[in-house]
Amino acid sequence: KKKLWRDSVHTLTPYVPGKPIEDVQRELGLDKVIRLASNENPFGPSPKALSAMADAVKDSWLYPEPTCRELRQKLAEKYGLTEGQFLVGNGADHIITLIGNAYINAGDEVIYCEPTFSSYEAITRLMDGVPMPVYSKSNYETDLDAILKVVTNRTKLIFICNPNNPTGTVVDTKDLIAFFKKLPNHVIVVLDEAYVEYMNDSYQTGVDFIKAEYPVIAIRTFSKYYGLAGARVGYAIAKEERLEPMQAVKQTFAVNRIAIAGAVASLEDEVYGKGVLSETKKEMQRLKSGLESLGYGVTDSQANFLFVDFKTDITDLFKKLMHKGILIRPCSAWSLNTHARVTIGTAEQNTKLLTALSQIN
Ligand code: PMP
Repeated sequence: KKKLWRDSVHTLTPYVPGKPIEDVQRELGLDKVIRLASNENPFGPSPKALSAMADAVKDSWLYPEPTCRELRQKLAEKYGLTEGQFLVGNGADHIITLIGNAYINAGDEVIYCEPTFSSYEAITRLMDGVPMPVYSKSNYETDLDAILKVVTNRTKLIFICNPNNPTGTVVDTKDLIAFFKKLPNHVIVVLDEAYVEYMNDSYQTGVDFIKAEYPVIAIRTFSKYYGLAGARVGYAIAKEERLEPMQAVKQTFAVNRIAIAGAVASLEDEVYGKGVLSETKKEMQRLKSGLESLGYGVTDSQANFLFVDFKTDITDLFKKLMHKGILIRPCSAWSLNTHARVTIGTAEQNTKLLTALSQIN
């Protein structure tokens, strides 16, 4: 494992994102590469967001408003909370960093349920906290009972990713509320809701839990449903006092003017978002059935990706697909050697994936 600059975090390895599409294209001499590896939204942002960002470019010489007030006002209105209950950052990953910077002291224990998003472990190690991973149930659902069993008086944070990356599973609302009630007062639950817009309406979300005063910090992003992964905007929702220490460690101008303009405009285009959602859900169903008829195991997902057991060596399959110009995300980092996470693409991309898989078979 590669050593980073602080001795105390010698076990920390840098996060390696999916290979840049340009590199794959050049290395393999491919004209076109389909990227189903990073849960981006293949439909892109709303046209209104694009034009707002183009306008904002003209004001690039001005520093942005540091608290992203306009965006927080819009979010407060949308979710029935106050502006002070939102903190905007440079992507949800930045919010995770701010939570770690603000809350994790050396020796603090941080619990999360594997397989899940790797940033929770990374920030814990970076802050000299103690990662306390537990493991999902056999159906890959987050195991709340397993989490409760490892809570101690040194537990600082519990990260719950809902819907979970990479499995797409969702924790039942009743179970989550019962779980909150069993936690000692010193514990904060960080509910990562990066994919919440894809979750069925029947579930309660971080917004409801915060209104009910459960000890929750929710994390959201404009990278998925809103199609702005390259613009980098994410936010935290919580009781105002819980955001203060995060505000204190946040760089003043972390979120740029162009990104803020894009995020504000996307919130104003509900119609576009609804279209993205129905197309993604329709395509998810089609891709899931297609994968199942090829004999693969597919977990029910409420996100914009599928967790697939390809029942074969995933590194090998990944390479074969890459040579056909399709990138998926192998789950080998979680020691799941036959699984991959596959982002729902456009109809054309999903068809190409199914065709490629049937040829490899
Ligand atoms: N949380 C989860 C669960 C994610 O999957 C991602 C993106 N892969 C993030 C946070 C980070 O998103 P952002 O692009 O907003 O930094």
